[in-house]
Amino acid sequence: MNDIEIAQAVSTILSKFTKATPDAVPAAAPATSETARVEGLDEIVAKALAQQSSGRAACATSQVANAGTGAFETMDEAISAAVLAQVQYRHCSMQDRASFINGIRDVFLQEDVLSAISRMAVEETGMGNYEDKLIKNRVAALKTPGLEDLATSAVTGDGGLTLIEYSAFGVIGSITPTTNPTETIINNSIGMLAAGNTVVFSPHPRSRKVSLYAVELINNRLAQLGAPANMVVTVTKPSIDNTNALINDPRINMLVATGGPAIVKTVMSSGKKAIGAGAGNPPAVVDETADIEKAARDIIKGCSFDNNLPCVAEKEVIVVNQVADYLIHCMKKSGAYLLCDKKLIQQLQSLVLNEKGTGPNTAFVGKDARYILQQLGITVGDDIKVILIETEKTHPFVVHELMMPVLPVVRVDNVDEAIELAVKVEHGNRHTAIMHSTNVEKLTKMARLIQTTIFVKNGPSYAGLGVGGEGHATFTIAGPTGEGLTSARAFARHRRCVMVEALNIR
Ligand code: NAD
Repeated sequence: MNDIEIAQAVSTILSKFTKATPDAVPAAAPATSETARVEGLDEIVAKALAQQSSGRAACATSQVANAGTGAFETMDEAISAAVLAQVQYRHCSMQDRASFINGIRDVFLQEDVLSAISRMAVEETGMGNYEDKLIKNRVAALKTPGLEDLATSAVTGDGGLTLIEYSAFGVIGSITPTTNPTETIINNSIGMLAAGNTVVFSPHPRSRKVSLYAVELINNRLAQLGAPANMVVTVTKPSIDNTNALINDPRINMLVATGGPAIVKTVMSSGKKAIGAGAGNPPAVVDETADIEKAARDIIKGCSFDNNLPCVAEKEVIVVNQVADYLIHCMKKSGAYLLCDKKLIQQLQSLVLNEKGTGPNTAFVGKDARYILQQLGITVGDDIKVILIETEKTHPFVVHELMMPVLPVVRVDNVDEAIELAVKVEHGNRHTAIMHSTNVEKLTKMARLIQTTIFVKNGPSYAGLGVGGEGHATFTIAGPTGEGLTSARAFARHRRCVMVEALNIR
């Protein structure tokens, strides 16, 4: 065995023991259980040695890894595999890392793969639309930063040379949503692997098939490139129990939750380093100085993108009275259906809200406008993308994140009132806000007051994701924990490496 193989075997063995809970091995264990432990140790050593001889240390020995699916029966097995892969990955070169990242990009940029995962996601979850999922998956593969995101910084002086480098956390547990299932897996795999980590995904059970397929595609390509096996893994049956097992396993060094408030709160209370990318309720403010026709087009495009599933998508419009009628007129011309009948609005409300009226009825999340209108007995063509309703500011459609193309419009007297209301209905999520205005002073005022991670000015919300606007793409927008639009550096530790009194060549 060479050094690397020994390190891997030791790590495998240690991982079995670091995971034991205090009650698992009683302090005064009887002789028989001690014997059992010793026998268990022998077995583990034998298994680790067998794994080494089966040729898994890809980067170290140039042997091609076993092509697995990356999906394990239990969370325990998945984590063990990712722990071993992490030890092996540490011995890969930066060139290896770059080749693995490019390999993942290449897989998902193949038209047949993009088409398959986009179609599967819509079919399995019953949410969103195929064309927009294509765009989202493509941008995740293309515009997620890789190694270039991890620039080393240096300080030199009489004291010598100090480097500050981005280094891996280790094994990351990544919990992914049903709304962007494959986008999040592509995006996080690239960013997390670029930073030197391995990753255990816990997908939403409702997007099981497509998530497992994405993980399998990644594993196949990494195997072809000679990567260590199981750098990106998951479980065959995703569930809340499995997610909790992931969160509580001491071998997981960092947690990343992309989802609603419950899961973000859970990871933030875990006692581990956690990144929380939570819910939003993005308001779109329109004032009298805006290009109203363009604002209308942008709002309809942003609100209807993937049937309003993205957490950044316009969820309510707040418009200054003076231009409200014209904005509504232009939105109708751009694909909105204005629902005016009070009875129908009431019917829509009972249909798309949950029983308590405190959030969406999941059966309608991510459905298209045409389908929703059909349930009200209204037939429209494919050109209708959004259902508009004029409401008061306290209406549940305004207050709650619906994730469907039902767009409430609230009139206010002036732009200051619009900004004030936008801040209120964003609920301090610090997620996303949109404003259409040419008044720089008011744009600045809104940005300052609302404090969102993304603030899009004069464009559709998705420009903030890197679709159409400048900047990299992400599907994990960490408002609550402050990393913002996550990329490789968010998944890395800062480490200092000091050479004393040498290597300053100035
Ligand atoms: P969700 O919260 O229902 O599920 C997200 C993940 O968390 C899933 O894997 C789910 O199984 C798990 N989960 C949820 N509650 C849990 C609990 N109590 N214990 C253990 N695991 C739990 O969210 P969703 O419906 O899949 O996605 C939509 C939500 O996610 C929206 O609120 C949206 O705004 C948000 N989101 C945010 C971002 C972001 O980057 N900030 C990106 C996508 C989605």
